[in-house]
Amino acid sequence: MTATHAVGIGSVKPNADWAYERAPMIIYWELTNACGLACRHCRATAMPDPAPGELTTSQAIAVLDDMLGFAAEGEALPHVVMTGGDPLKRPDLAELVAAATARGLGVSLAPAVTPLLTREKIFWMKEIGVQAISLSLDGSNAAYHDGVRMVPGTFDATIEALDIAADAGLSVQVNTLVTDTTAADLPAVYELLSRHTLMQWSLFFLISIGRGSELTELSPGEAERWLLWAQRTGREAPFRIKTTEAMHYRRLLGSALLRAGKSWGEVEQHPMSRAFGIRDGNGIVFISHQGDVSPSGFLPVTVGNVKDTSLVELYRDTELMRSLRDPDQFKGRCGVCEYRKWCGGSRARAYAWTGDPLEADPLCPYQPRTTVPAQ
Ligand code: SF4
Repeated sequence: MTATHAVGIGSVKPNADWAYERAPMIIYWELTNACGLACRHCRATAMPDPAPGELTTSQAIAVLDDMLGFAAEGEALPHVVMTGGDPLKRPDLAELVAAATARGLGVSLAPAVTPLLTREKIFWMKEIGVQAISLSLDGSNAAYHDGVRMVPGTFDATIEALDIAADAGLSVQVNTLVTDTTAADLPAVYELLSRHTLMQWSLFFLISIGRGSELTELSPGEAERWLLWAQRTGREAPFRIKTTEAMHYRRLLGSALLRAGKSWGEVEQHPMSRAFGIRDGNGIVFISHQGDVSPSGFLPVTVGNVKDTSLVELYRDTELMRSLRDPDQFKGRCGVCEYRKWCGGSRARAYAWTGDPLEADPLCPYQPRTTVPAQ
């Protein structure tokens, strides 16, 4: 099961000019919640067979047409990450990828590692126009990884798929779950990945929703310690290291720039700062297998359904989406934090803990300065 942290596929580059109020940079589309795995942290609480009400092929193609409304002539379109469940469970997957690419939409896939993910299927993905795939690796050995994925043999199959994807010329992102029981294994996972070819490693800091509510998040202090480790490791790593639902990783970048002598104005103008502001509802939108639209798969508040309302309208104009793009509406520490524009905290974790997506991110221990430093 990959849906839990299929965020930020490696082929999607940060774009400092992207107007998040007009268009998401990445559309996560859960084509189905059918999946052959039953992972302990599954956001989608996936099942072996498709659920009733899954979008039909013609409904899905209508959604692709609708996505074109995000860009005016000559503007870049969002990137579509087709996830699940397991997108390989959709019999019309090739048709949907072809329809997306024909419309100028870049496509990545987040397949589950099951017997469906064969060498032939991975090369087929490249042939039909998929740009990148993400694979989940939650431990440095079979005991750790298969213990999370709940299917023996998944670890070996994941490493094999990683190498085949590189052979096929696909960009690969590896996603790793970070919880209080898995964090200590991160250095070993890094050592393992360093011996393979990938574009990006994403550390997904658990949010307790779906089956993930059975696992335990790190404490804020531990999270900070591992983010600092990731920052140090990332300086030498042969691939990019990013985080998912631990936006305060960006605060560490900002504070490192300040320590290096940059002014606050220079930090705000840093090419990464605008792109780093991407977060649930602000550069990201999620479509469920039944067409429900929410700010992300981890923030399960529905703003409407693509069967009866334009995705463009739901993203741009609904009250929740607008509030998530306005850091001045954030509450608690996030509401007064000098980093709120390009960090902003995990809105999904705020919601999971408090029921209010505008509240402070409980995983961040930072005490804001409350005033912007002098230029
Ligand atoms: S307080 Fe909120 S906005 Fe500030 S660094 Fe922490 S998570 Fe980010």
